Amino acid sequence: MFDKILIANRGEIALRVVRACREMGIRSVAVHSTADSDAMHVRMADEAICIGPPPSDRSYLSIPAIVSACEISGAQAVHPGYGFLSENAKFVQILEDHDIAFIGPTAEHIRIMGDKITAKETMKALGVPCVPGSEGGVDTLEDARRIAAEIGFPVIVKATAGGGGRGMKLALAPEDLSEAFQTARSEAKACFGNDEVYIEKYLQKPRHIEVQVFGDGKGGAVHLGERDCSLQRRHQKVLEEAPGPVISPEMRARIGRICADAVAGINYRGAGTIEFLYEDGEFYFIEMNTRLQVEHPVTEAVFGVDLVREQIRVAEGLPMSFTQEDLEMRGHAIEVRINAEKLPDFTPCPGTITQFHAPGGLGVRIDSALYDGYTIPPYYDSLIGKLIVHGRDRPEAIARLRRALGELIVDGVETTIPLFKDLLEEEAILTGEYDIHWLEKWLAEKYA
Ligand code: ADP
Repeated sequence: MFDKILIANRGEIALRVVRACREMGIRSVAVHSTADSDAMHVRMADEAICIGPPPSDRSYLSIPAIVSACEISGAQAVHPGYGFLSENAKFVQILEDHDIAFIGPTAEHIRIMGDKITAKETMKALGVPCVPGSEGGVDTLEDARRIAAEIGFPVIVKATAGGGGRGMKLALAPEDLSEAFQTARSEAKACFGNDEVYIEKYLQKPRHIEVQVFGDGKGGAVHLGERDCSLQRRHQKVLEEAPGPVISPEMRARIGRICADAVAGINYRGAGTIEFLYEDGEFYFIEMNTRLQVEHPVTEAVFGVDLVREQIRVAEGLPMSFTQEDLEMRGHAIEVRINAEKLPDFTPCPGTITQFHAPGGLGVRIDSALYDGYTIPPYYDSLIGKLIVHGRDRPEAIARLRRALGELIVDGVETTIPLFKDLLEEEAILTGEYDIHWLEKWLAEKYA
């Protein structure tokens, strides 16, 4: 059993892991940059170690600094949170070489899923439905033209090493392909140091549906239903809900089983998310995230389980604490991502919080590292908190979200809170009839 875990992250997710550790009687070690000395995760953890200056590549992304912090503190395991080193196979390998457990999957599984082409091939072989597209990478414009003609326009050119919505270019018609191909390649090279791209059919009005899976690393795996994350801006999720408004219990059981069987088939360990585009009743795999997701709390709400606790258990070699039969979904949950950003352009807005008041009451959860007087540093992601509500059904969750947003006060910086208040006035949000393009179109009209 672990008695000390180091958390290689910051902000709300570091706090989330501290909380799970404390409930399990495990000591937690926070790491932080000099910009985060006053951060909540540093205050809440049992121990804290400064690992470097503000820039992430010299602190939160510095493998030597984090391994040293493990050695100094005597932590037996590392929880990576999301982002930073959470999907870095080299990091996992180095921890293994130092006899430090990684709370997550193996380096090999991270590597397979981190390369989108290998991920797609692996998933296809495991029986998971995929978006029609090129078999592997596409090296030349001639090949791109041939493949696009085969699958039919529109097509999307995507970076093999892509992530965060970058390195993705749309070609609506044959004449757009050359530019899409070249820009996707150069963007991929610039962002990921790898210019390999592949081509997929571009689905015109899909929803983004992702299935939460969990494996014990020994061939056992379950699914915890789906999340609908279709409300996106620049391919970034803004609001997430579980269950998906358009997914029937039969569809959930079917796609859930396919996903659980797939991860069982590779002895996957820990939490994972299999992402799909969903259109006209069909699921199309796009990628797998081999970590805890930002939006995991909506799944925790409807299933009543602690996913971080479960991650820690299986990393210790313990069995999962539930079977598929034990997992019963109750009610509806919605999460909104609160960013320190100025509308309408969503420009980052770091600064000092002059007043913070968190909503409460039945079915309300706030995951945030904010406090009165806290200064949001300009170096990191602008996510400052997540508000998650749970109700008996979707209308109750929406009413609760509206009520909780009314109670929430974040003063001193601009935030995305007004966006959610406005969204909850929209018919499409109330009925759940939105696809992945809905938010962009709405924003363009609303803030024109
Ligand atoms: P990333 O890893 O950069 O987030 P994904 O492959 O997960 O990239 O895609 C991110 C988003 O891009 C999806 O949620 C969807 O909105 C859009 N997208 C990706 N592939 C397609 C496709 N084939 N057709 C339509 N939209 C797509």
